[in-house]
Amino acid sequence: LTEVKFNSEMEVELVDSMGDDTSILAAMMVSTMGETAELMRKDPKGISGRLNFLMKNRHGTPFEHGSLQFRVKAPIAVFREWHRHRIGQSYNEESGRYKKLEPEFYIPPSNRPLLQTGKPGEYVMGPIGSKEYNSGVELMKFVFEREYNTYEALLDLGWTREAARGVLGVYIYSSMYVTLNPRSLMSFLSLRTDEPESSFPSKPMWEIEQCARKMEAEFAKIFPYTYEAFNNHGRVAP
Ligand SMILES: Cc1cc2nc3c(=O)[nH]c(=O)nc-3n(C[C@H](O)[C@H](O)[C@H](O)COP(=O)(O)OP(=O)(O)OC[C@H]3O[C@@H](n4cnc5c(N)ncnc54)[C@H](O)[C@@H]3O)c2cc1C
Repeated sequence: LTEVKFNSEMEVELVDSMGDDTSILAAMMVSTMGETAELMRKDPKGISGRLNFLMKNRHGTPFEHGSLQFRVKAPIAVFREWHRHRIGQSYNEESGRYKKLEPEFYIPPSNRPLLQTGKPGEYVMGPIGSKEYNSGVELMKFVFEREYNTYEALLDLGWTREAARGVLGVYIYSSMYVTLNPRSLMSFLSLRTDEPESSFPSKPMWEIEQCARKMEAEFAKIFPYTYEAFNNHGRVAP
């Protein structure tokens, strides 16, 4: 039997970026300064006030001038939600048709709220008892080992990868690159973080929020004024 690996991490690594807050400022100022807007990159006077003005008045397009590329390793359940974000995010994911999927499955960590109460739209997630947690993890591992070994048995029978993967569940790990601009990242953060300060608080799945928080930390470093304005104006994409 193939040994199956279990993992509880979401990997999000910034691999490349283009631009910073001055790229957005220049894009804004071309409106009134024409080609001399380029001077704003070296002397970004009033940048905080100007980017807050854009955010407050929902002038969103200047925030499209920049780019962040991330490498992500997460369970397929996360990617299934992530790929619903259609606008301004470019994706390339490993293929279950062209390569054999790795024997690695996600196990929710013990600090992940697992007890669901309430009703649709108003669910409350709380901690589950340690006995229930440990029993649940054992059940998951049991199933994941069988899933993966059945997958391999089908491949050994000569089944094509695209059909054999039908026995694998959505907690198997996958990997992708995602490239997005600050505006689309703000749209993603707005929906995929649970932030009480937000004008429209969201209740995302815990695992996708772990990814969103890692992206948020990189965004805050590269685009600090934009990030500040995003928070000042309710964490809504302009
Ligand atoms: C807490 C939560 C629960 C969810 N539950 C469900 C669920 O039960 N079932 C389900 O199917 N999905 C669910 N979703 C996914 C959700 O419906 C969206 O698909 C996802 O959040 C992406 O949002 P978006 O369309 O705004 O993003 P993007 O696709 O990136 O679009 C960004 C913006 O572009 C504009 N836009 C994009 N496409 C169009 C279009 N065709 N027409 C007009 N304007 C457009 C809109 O302004 C949109 O907000 C859930 C999401 C969250 C955060």
